[in-house]
Amino acid sequence: MFQKILIANRGEIALRVLRAAKELGIQTVAVHSTADADAMHVRLADESVCIGPPASRDSYLNIHQILAACEITGADAVHPGYGFLSENAKFAEILAAHNLTFIGPTADHIRVMGDKIEAKRTVKKLGIPVVPGSEGAVTDDREAKRIAADIGYPVLVKASAGGGGRGMKVARTEDDLSEALSTARNEAGSAFGDDAVYIEKYLEKPRHIEVQVMGDGMGKAIHLGERDCSLQRRHQKVWEEANSPALNVEQRTRIGETVSKAMADLGYSGAGTIEFLYENGEFYFIEMNTRLQVEHPVTEAITGIDLVHEQIRVASGGGLSVTQEEVRFHGHAIECRINAEDPRTFVPSPGTITHFHTPGGLGVRVDSGVYSGYRIPPYYDSLIGKLIVHGRNRVECMMRLRRALDEFVVDGINSTLPLFRDLVGNVDVANGDYDIHWLENYLAKSA
Ligand code: ADP
Repeated sequence: MFQKILIANRGEIALRVLRAAKELGIQTVAVHSTADADAMHVRLADESVCIGPPASRDSYLNIHQILAACEITGADAVHPGYGFLSENAKFAEILAAHNLTFIGPTADHIRVMGDKIEAKRTVKKLGIPVVPGSEGAVTDDREAKRIAADIGYPVLVKASAGGGGRGMKVARTEDDLSEALSTARNEAGSAFGDDAVYIEKYLEKPRHIEVQVMGDGMGKAIHLGERDCSLQRRHQKVWEEANSPALNVEQRTRIGETVSKAMADLGYSGAGTIEFLYENGEFYFIEMNTRLQVEHPVTEAITGIDLVHEQIRVASGGGLSVTQEEVRFHGHAIECRINAEDPRTFVPSPGTITHFHTPGGLGVRVDSGVYSGYRIPPYYDSLIGKLIVHGRNRVECMMRLRRALDEFVVDGINSTLPLFRDLVGNVDVANGDYDIHWLENYLAKSA
């Protein structure tokens, strides 16, 4: 087991990793920018190192500074959290070259899954269902038209290097296609420096359902069920739940087994998420995230398994603590992402939180790095906390969520709490009856 883990992240996820390390008796090192000197994870860590000025590229993305911090403190492993360097294959390689363990998958797996065309090709070979589309990048408009006619309109042009929903264009007819191709290529070229695009069938009303996997890197992998993250705004997840209200036990078992077998065959190591669009009873792979996800706590709630403990165990060579047969799913869990944003316009609202009170009681978990008097710096994402509620079934979970949201107090800044108080009272949400466009439509109607 590791002696000392350096946490190359900030905010609630840095605290989340720190807690897991402490439980395992491992020393912790926090790194922080000058803007985060008074952050909670810095206060609670055994040691801390300032790694640069506020801008992420000079601090949380600065590989040299993070290496230096490992050297100074004698850390033997690095947990990257999510975002920042968590899906940077070069970072994983550089750590390995310095005899430091990257708590995550191999650099090769990160690289393959970071390229959407490569990822799709790889998982398809492993037996995971993918969205019908071109076999690889399309460079020629005539070929594109032939492929689109084959799969049928509407089609979606997507950037191979894509992320955050950029470089994506829908073409409803053949007439739209040339323009969609050139717009997507331009957007992808300027956003990612890579203008390769590919074509997929455009699904009109899918749900976003993702499967959590854990591999031991030695040919064994388990799945921990799915999460439904269909409630999104601008491709950003807002509300996540486990299990999905749309799946039954057979469907859950079938997709879970398909995914865990594929990851075992790949020799995958650590935590990963296979994201699907789900429509008319069929799953279509869209991407794999080779890291811990923001919404991992809903999976922890229904399985009782600490995913960060598992990540640390696997990275240290200790394997997984559970077999697939030992994984049990209990009840239902929902996560609300509380952002420092205006609940109607979603304009970020940095500033000082004058009063912060979190709900408690049975089945209620709050993962947050903020506190009363905390000043939210304007340099990073606007997530200030996650409320995760668990109940024996979805009805109990929703009742408890409503109560927990009532108790939650965030004063001094705008937060998205009012949005969740609306959602928890909505009949479609209560019925679990929504697709990936539902929230945008709801927000447009209530504007
Ligand atoms: P990114 O990495 O840019 O977030 P994804 O491939 O994960 O790209 O897709 C982002 C979102 O775009 C999905 O969550 C979904 O809402 C939409 N999307 C992607 N592919 C399709 C498709 N084939 N049909 C319909 N919507 C899609």
